[in-house]
This record gives sequence, structure tokens and C-alpha cells, in this order.
Amino acid sequence: MEFYDLNKQYLTIKKRFLTRLAHIQEESEYILGSDVKRFEEDFARYCGVQFAVGVNSGTDALFLSLKSLDVKAGDEVIVPTFTFIATSFAVTMTGATPIFVDIDEKTFTIDVGRIQEHITKKTRAVIPVHLFGLCANMKDIALLARKNNLYLIEDAAQAHGARIGDKKAGSFGSCGCFSFYPTKNLSAFGDGGLITTNSKKLYRILSALRDCGRSTKRYLHHRLGYNSRLDNVQAACLRLKLKKLDTWNKIRIRNAKLYACHLKGLHNIILPTIPDGHTHVFHAYSILTKKRSALINEFKNYKIPYSIFYQVPLHLQKANANLGYHRGNFPISERVAQEIISLPIHPALSEKEISKVAEVIKKVHHD
Ligand SMILES: *Cc1c(COP(=O)(O)O)cnc(C)c1O
Repeated sequence: MEFYDLNKQYLTIKKRFLTRLAHIQEESEYILGSDVKRFEEDFARYCGVQFAVGVNSGTDALFLSLKSLDVKAGDEVIVPTFTFIATSFAVTMTGATPIFVDIDEKTFTIDVGRIQEHITKKTRAVIPVHLFGLCANMKDIALLARKNNLYLIEDAAQAHGARIGDKKAGSFGSCGCFSFYPTKNLSAFGDGGLITTNSKKLYRILSALRDCGRSTKRYLHHRLGYNSRLDNVQAACLRLKLKKLDTWNKIRIRNAKLYACHLKGLHNIILPTIPDGHTHVFHAYSILTKKRSALINEFKNYKIPYSIFYQVPLHLQKANANLGYHRGNFPISERVAQEIISLPIHPALSEKEISKVAEVIKKVHHD
């Protein structure tokens, strides 16, 4: 059993991908290129937004979104403390200060009730993270952002296809930021990322920012820019996989249901919550247990792969020490970091493998 199914996933597109690679080589269409343009259109349509800008990673998607909104030194940006570190690094890279907020213990997403107390005159934006494939509480966050005149940027790096009602992740904010890192629900043949937006103005700015500040005319640069282009090989891979994303997500959801059937009623264990109206796409299936080290020992005995997302909340990461936080600042995130463990959930798992994982969990949590 493996934690990810990258090889099996690749085999489903291999033939068409290799044909497309040959075409890219013949046309010498390596950077940006027609696959990028078509993938941007496909992905924008998929998310129900007007524009998409391919970039070279999820981290850059966040960074360039902040730059496009002119977030800079002296500004503050609100982010959850329980997420992948790129969410806060993107803010730091602009010169602005990340302001951490605790999470809701049921959904693992930012605790909306705790945002207001962190808003100051310097606050410019809020970045909710759709962690593990579940959208944050976007209705309340959008209201709060509007009331306080804050930009709303979604970190949707783990939430391709996640929804609230019919509205997809990436369609709620000024910008939606996606990563196509190889382990994400939709993944490239290397690094990749993308920004969704409904603003033509932001679309234009983002298109220039990712490409050395280039204007539509060659070698005319109206602004400082970066080299953050999505290359054509990645886009060709992504276009092929996007067609399969909904099927893959459905299997992840089915796998999550199987786990829930096996594990419901067990004491000392908390299963993922899905709020009403939300479609969780289970980038990760993360449970809480007070017996994590015993469970890890048994997982090792039975050769069951697992992962810990995340051992250390961002306010306690060494790299963020200069921000001045300490243990005790965000008790929920700190407890979750001690108790969380993620089970294999990828679409290539068999029902038998899922029962095997569940049996080991039951063994540890029988009383
Ligand atoms: C993966 C991820 C990122 C960063 O994406 P990269 O493509 O690795 O730069 C940002 N935020 C979250 C929540 C992620 O999971």
C-alpha cells in the first residue's frame, strides 16, 4: 500500500501525454504556449470564474495574488496558523506581516469567530485555506471581509473541485490560488500553480507579474515582474488530468465514506466533519486521536503508510520565530497538531486496503 498513487495516475494519461510531449518538442513550444492557454480556459470554466493565470507553483500563486493587490511592507494579512507554511511565507515575501488566527477544531479551517479580534488599521487581506479539501466558511468570511474592507484570497492548493453548494473553491475571493504539486488532487509533471479571478484588471496585472512585468508588446516592461510562468509540459499534463478530476474526487469521497463506516462509534477518535452544503474532496483524510504514537507503532508493524499534516503550527515554526508568537497562543491548532494523523485516501486504493487500515485503527482504539 502507498500513501500516494502517482504512478497509477500517470499511467491513465501516459499515451496521450507522450503524444502531446512530442508535439511540444516539434513546435519548440516550451514556455507558456498553447497548452497553457487552453488549460487556463479549461480550469477557469471548471471553477466557474472568468480568468485563470498559470504560474509556476502554489506558493507563487499566493505571492503574486498579494502583489497584484499591492499588499506590501507595513500591511498585515490574516492567515490560519494550521496550514502548509507557504500560506504565511507568501505574505512574508511581500514584506507584509502574517497575522495568525486559530482554527475551528471540527473543520480544521480558520475560525471565523476569531478573525475580527485580529483586524487592525493595517490589515489588508485575509487568506482562508481550504485545508485537506474542505472549503472554509466562505459565507461568513466574505461578509467579514466586505465589512472590514479586506481583500479575500483563497488558498485552494488542496481543494481542486471542492464546493459549497454549486460554488467551487477558487470562485469566492478576489483571487483563488491553486497548486499542482505532484501530490495534490490535480497535479502536474513537476511544479505548477494557477490563480483564478473574475477581475479583468487583476487578470492583466497577474499576467504581467508572472512574466517579468511584460506588457503585451515585447520587451516593454511597465512594472516589476517575476519569472513565474507555467510551462507547456505541465499544462499538457494538467489538461489531460483535469478531465479525470471529478471521477478521482468522487472515489476519494467514496473512500472517505468507507472509512467512516468502519470507524464510526469508536471512542477516542474524531473523524472528519463535513458541514451542510459542503463537498469535501478529501485531499487528506485526517483524524484526531489521543493514541497517535500507539497508532503509528501499529501502522509501522503492518506497513501502513500515513502522514502527519502538520506537526507544528506556523506560529511555532522556527522560520516564523521573528513574528514573536509562542506556545499557548493558539490552543486548538496546538492540540490538533499533537493528535492529527492522515490516512491513505487516494483513488487507487482498494476497499480491502481501506478495511486493513481501519482494522489496525480499531485494534488500537478498541476500549
Ligand atoms: C501545497 C500547498 C501550497 C504551496 O504549493 P506549492 O505548489 O508547493 O508551492 C500552499 N498552500 C497549501 C495549503 C498547500 O497545501
